[in-house]
Amino acid sequence: MPALSIAEAVPVDCVVAGAGVVGLAVARALALAGREVLVLEAHGLIGSETSARNSEVIHAGIYYKPGSLKARLCVNGRDRLYVYCAERGIGHRRCGKLIVASGEAEIAKLDGIRTQAAACGVVDLAPLDRAEIREMEPALAVDAALLSPSTGIIDSHGLMLALQGDIEDRGGAIAFNAPILGGKVTDAGILLDVGGAEPMTLLATTFVNSAGHGAVALANAIEGLDQGHVPPAYLCKGSYYSLPGRAPFSRLVYPVPEAAGLGVHLTLDLGGQARFGPDTEWIEAVDYNVEPARAERFYGAIRRYWPALPDGALVPAYAGIRPKITPPGAPAADFRIDGPAEHGVPELVNLFGIESPGLTASLAIGDLVVDKLTR
Ligand SMILES: Cc1cc2nc3c(=O)[nH]c(=O)nc-3n(C[C@H](O)[C@H](O)[C@H](O)COP(=O)(O)OP(=O)(O)OC[C@H]3O[C@@H](n4cnc5c(N)ncnc54)[C@H](O)[C@@H]3O)c2cc1C
Repeated sequence: MPALSIAEAVPVDCVVAGAGVVGLAVARALALAGREVLVLEAHGLIGSETSARNSEVIHAGIYYKPGSLKARLCVNGRDRLYVYCAERGIGHRRCGKLIVASGEAEIAKLDGIRTQAAACGVVDLAPLDRAEIREMEPALAVDAALLSPSTGIIDSHGLMLALQGDIEDRGGAIAFNAPILGGKVTDAGILLDVGGAEPMTLLATTFVNSAGHGAVALANAIEGLDQGHVPPAYLCKGSYYSLPGRAPFSRLVYPVPEAAGLGVHLTLDLGGQARFGPDTEWIEAVDYNVEPARAERFYGAIRRYWPALPDGALVPAYAGIRPKITPPGAPAADFRIDGPAEHGVPELVNLFGIESPGLTASLAIGDLVVDKLTR
């Protein structure tokens, strides 16, 4: 990295690294708070990494540790998102989700899920018996279920376009093909070395690192930030397989969670097409290729709740990669949203490990970042 010089730097009020859904929501919240905002995005368009490669589910907030950032920001973000979608005409559907169980051992777990959900502030889960399930979703063959009425689906690109519109309406801007290569904390602000076709040095009063998979590397490249405040980075890929044609379901279907994750679940897009996944595969480097052979292990799991799944029906769809900060086998970490109170550098916020439910929580994360900068 070249030596950064204040004399040659262009002054900017707030810089946000990354135009994924979280970076855009943070930039919007800063713009609404009256700040001048510039978003710098390494790629040539908004939402081209994890924000374009997820289940597009508005999560209710059922499974997180009570009191954690994930739990609080999911429930708050979910409510805010439904209101924002309605106000801005963003495609969404509060379709609901069924958590399904077969056999005594799984049925026994449903009570625990209800208790856990209630501790997170999700008090609307309703138990269903076989007849009620058949009535709602005739294709399902399970013994019992919980209905989560506040789970929904969203057009995530429509959401990001609305956030971009709000940023630009308040005088903010997004610069594309503008990767931030590193930075330096100075008394005058945070110097940022911007690469790409038109390299430049910026002097930001405030810098928010919301670079998704790039956040850990970027934080490590900031001179003046103690590296003890930067976690390690791991990649956990999730592949999806779609079902061509219209699915015989109108709600999302999740099996009772297993030790390793949420199980092979069914989500729907706004067009009614079903996709199954994501599975979990720890990888060393970003790779969005979906291997057809991995679909084989889905069939048995899906037929436990949908026995009529035809042979050969699953088609490779797409993959997303969870930006993990704990290694395989370790419990999933909470979101890490580190402001001056955590790392001691004024006017800097780093967002690490923003995996699910980051899309649902995005508006609430934006407000938390503003709060951390004004405290
Ligand atoms: C398989 C999967 C399924 C999921 N399903 C759901 C779901 O159903 N519901 C839900 O709520 N959440 C879900 N999530 C989580 C959600 O997708 C993420 O939390 C969210 O998209 C993260 O957004 P982001 O802006 O932090 O990251 P990203 O979308 O990855 O954006 C980061 C941006 O930073 C840019 N960047 C990186 N480095 C630099 C740099 N040095 N300079 C400038 N720009 C840089 C990148 O190009 C990228 O555009 C899922 C995640 C995965 C992986």
